[in-house]
Amino acid sequence: MNQRSIRLRGVRVHNLRDVDVDVPHHQLVVFCGVSGSGKTSLALDTLYAEGQRRYIESFSAYTRQFLQRLDRPDCESIEGLPPAIAVTRGGASRSNRSTIGTATETADYLRLLYAKVADLTCLNCGQPVRSDDPQSAANQLAATEPAARAMLGFPLLLESKLHAVDELSYLQQQGFLRLIVGDRSFNLGDESRGELAEAIGDGAEAIVIVDRLKTSDAAGRLTESMETAFAEGAGQAVALIESAEGETVIDGKSWQAMKWSRQRKCETCQITYPDPEPRLFNFNNPLGACPACEGFGDIVDVDMDLVVPDRSKTLREGAIQPWNTPSYQHELEELLALADDYDLPVDVPFSRLTKKQRRLIDEGVPEREFGGLNGFFAWLERKKYKMHIRVFLSRWRSYRRCTTCNGQRLKDEVLAYRVGGKNIAEVCAMEVDAIARFFADVKLADREAEIADDVLHQVRNRLGYLQSVGLGYLQLDRTLRTLSGGEAQRVALTSALGSSLVNMLYVLDEPTAGLHPADVPSLIESIVRLRDRGNTVAVVEHNEAVFAAADRLIEVGPGAGASGGEIVFEGTADEMVQTQGSLTGDYLSGRRGMLSLQRDRLQPRGWLKLTGASGNNLQSIDVDFPLGVLCVVTGVSGSGKSSLVHDTLYGAICRRKKKSGATSLPYSDLVGDGQLEDVLLVDQSPISRSPRSNPVTYVKAFDSIRKVFADTLEARTRNFGAGHFSFNSAAGRCEACEGDGMLQIDMQFLADIYMQCPECKGTRYRDEILKIRYRDRNIADVLKMTVRQAVSFFRGYDKVQEKLKRLTDVGLDYLQLGQPANTLSSGEAQRLKLAAFLSAAQRRRTLFLMDEPTTGLHVADIVKLLGCFDALLADGHSLIVVEHNLRLIKASDYIIDMGPGAAGNGGRVVAAGEPEVVKEVAESATGQILKRAIEADLAASEPE
Ligand code: ADP
Ligand code: ADP
Ligand code: ZN
Ligand code: ZN
Repeated sequence: MNQRSIRLRGVRVHNLRDVDVDVPHHQLVVFCGVSGSGKTSLALDTLYAEGQRRYIESFSAYTRQFLQRLDRPDCESIEGLPPAIAVTRGGASRSNRSTIGTATETADYLRLLYAKVADLTCLNCGQPVRSDDPQSAANQLAATEPAARAMLGFPLLLESKLHAVDELSYLQQQGFLRLIVGDRSFNLGDESRGELAEAIGDGAEAIVIVDRLKTSDAAGRLTESMETAFAEGAGQAVALIESAEGETVIDGKSWQAMKWSRQRKCETCQITYPDPEPRLFNFNNPLGACPACEGFGDIVDVDMDLVVPDRSKTLREGAIQPWNTPSYQHELEELLALADDYDLPVDVPFSRLTKKQRRLIDEGVPEREFGGLNGFFAWLERKKYKMHIRVFLSRWRSYRRCTTCNGQRLKDEVLAYRVGGKNIAEVCAMEVDAIARFFADVKLADREAEIADDVLHQVRNRLGYLQSVGLGYLQLDRTLRTLSGGEAQRVALTSALGSSLVNMLYVLDEPTAGLHPADVPSLIESIVRLRDRGNTVAVVEHNEAVFAAADRLIEVGPGAGASGGEIVFEGTADEMVQTQGSLTGDYLSGRRGMLSLQRDRLQPRGWLKLTGASGNNLQSIDVDFPLGVLCVVTGVSGSGKSSLVHDTLYGAICRRKKKSGATSLPYSDLVGDGQLEDVLLVDQSPISRSPRSNPVTYVKAFDSIRKVFADTLEARTRNFGAGHFSFNSAAGRCEACEGDGMLQIDMQFLADIYMQCPECKGTRYRDEILKIRYRDRNIADVLKMTVRQAVSFFRGYDKVQEKLKRLTDVGLDYLQLGQPANTLSSGEAQRLKLAAFLSAAQRRRTLFLMDEPTTGLHVADIVKLLGCFDALLADGHSLIVVEHNLRLIKASDYIIDMGPGAAGNGGRVVAAGEPEVVKEVAESATGQILKRAIEADLAASEPE
């Protein structure tokens, strides 16, 4: 076939069945198919894994010693593979110091911009502060009118007569001839040494003359002498210009003095400013970071609201909470004992104590060996290497905004630098859309504009990329940690767009996750741009708009797990629609009779009324949520869906239900929660980052399975109990990897690498445990079975089957029982959480809050998911789902559409009601898309 393609032969990774496939270079190739069919195994675990392996191999000897032992993807051959970069949801850094700005390099270019062209105004008096250089100083000197004789030199502090001797002979050796002290000039020659010493006395400020010239001399001479003066004068230069009005008198003549300095110093306020260099504007660098919080913006500190939670209590009643515990009660007793002697009232409410009395409590009484609260907490601080002390201490401390920098993370002197009137922290705190407008309008002086041109171009480009992937509503300083998986992936995509790498292979994992249909076209444009720059782009997707943009579609299938793993279709989107046997094509063409998903519409059986929600961008709104139905919350990214559902509603219900640890954004009231007994948040956060958790343990089916093994004759003869079959217990697990089955290698600068444990070969167990077999399979074999295989394997064991059945219900029958939770996609993790709930004892009237449950799902899978939803609703539960999938939105009972736009332009409910109602609302972006889709359905269902 085509020479210019990546040629994969005999791929057997995971469920793939000897797959041969060609991925043409420089094209946009989309991998589709039902969930579990093998798309990810092909695109990420084969193409990307091998591409990255070869890439790493090419640059680091340290890494290579591990790589020989790492598994290559299981396949015959891969040829024509470029270096690969994966843009996925999981990879983003979760540290507090990575922000959207740093991840996209926008912050780097902003720093460069500030270093190059920022204006400095004194933070005290607001006057401009300038720095001189020899060139600008020479220009000023040349510009003095009228042209005159001048002496050019640099200031020198002579501290004492003794000190001056060495200094002067050094100057003489350097070739300087003259010196001014007071109102006289001196030769550095021996003959005037005596008089000079006299003039210096106990110290003097001298000017060492570098050159005597005319201000009208050639520019070259002025600059050259000025350079010498700046160099010898440690960045300072002085000129004395002969002038009748001059105020400085030397040798009887009057002179006008001019001074220059490299140093940025406000002469009025005597404040010196650091030189603008890029790292100064970086809160990760000690040079510019706020010293109080070291650039974090927050500090952790004793929180008096926690120490004294109830200020109406008196000291005797135990107002000081930490001293009510048995271990520290003696502190309170000491305080009560000395109170009388120091006029401290112990029977008035804490709130009524005077400042002075509070200070006594804080600072203690040294002569009575009482350390007060400060002493107490300092003592705890010293003891915090003990776990229980650390836990105790943390109860009284909280994070709060650093008061030194107000959360701006940088020193005041750094924030005094401005571009277009704003400092760098102010710019980063704005939303990307607003920053883009700001830099489109910003006016720079000609010289600055020229210097800044390149950098500004880079900044604007990156802001534009962020906008094109639908992230214009995010603040540049939002930490990646607070982003949803989809948002984080699109930030990563922006970094790819911003780099100028070509001839790379980019592998994207469902980039449309979390994106409203209205934002998809511009995302597609960005992906196409990545291809057009000369890269190969492989995308795992379910979104039909992305199919249409693909050069080539590769469908993996036909089913999931063992019934998948084959290429069932290759070609264009048009060809796919024509092709019988392509499941995706069947749905696309409507051959399945499934243009829209069918379900019977339900009526609400009650309402949950939230009023005055005003967190993040919510505009103090009242929202009625229907109960007992499938309610979807829609709206463009950044419109406030998560702020409403996740951050407000969930927290509000938890508070009413007295669930611990729940916080909520501000709201006025919530009524109707009495109709619910519980609330469950099923979000996309991973179940566990550890390879120890897996589907079978998560739905608690493993306990029963272990009993099956413990009940075998062989196990009983050897006295192995159920515990021996747990990879978490020392009794049976492999000692080398402690039951992980793999070893984690810390790669320092790269992501950690996992390697199969050489001792147990990844089985997690000791040999003697593996010898125990039930129906010819050992426990490790069982962990390798898919859910579907296990259901039939454990026939006769109702308990096991019942729990596993729940995994089948949510469409996870293709998963291996022991597949580490950290390898599950976010959609799978979410459905696993749902399965765990379904398999737990029946609970009544629970409200489920879900975040994009269709992520990673093919239409065929969504049909299953809807079945699962209907089962929950039939049981009397309620569902509120944040969703972007049009098919699911169409099939819902009730829509709450947020918007109309993002951030400040959103935060309201623009439409609410059944899909037929919402589609008539002109202001609603979702409504408009819904209208077109419903009309298209109708047109398609009309007989020809
Ligand atoms: P898709 O991307 O199409 O949803 P995957 O490629 O993730 O499907 O999965 C295909 C099959 O391979 C599934 O049966 C899945 O359980 C299995 N699989 C995926 N990742 C792993 C893994 N790390 N270890 C073992 N099996 C895996
Ligand atoms: P959606 O869920 O509709 O995408 P969000 O509720 O996440 O929207 O965001 C609504 C607005 O609130 C956006 O302007 C977003 O930047 C802001 N926002 C959301 N979460 C945070 C947060 N943790 N910190 C600061 N701003 C936030
Ligand atoms: Zn600070
Ligand atoms: Zn091991």
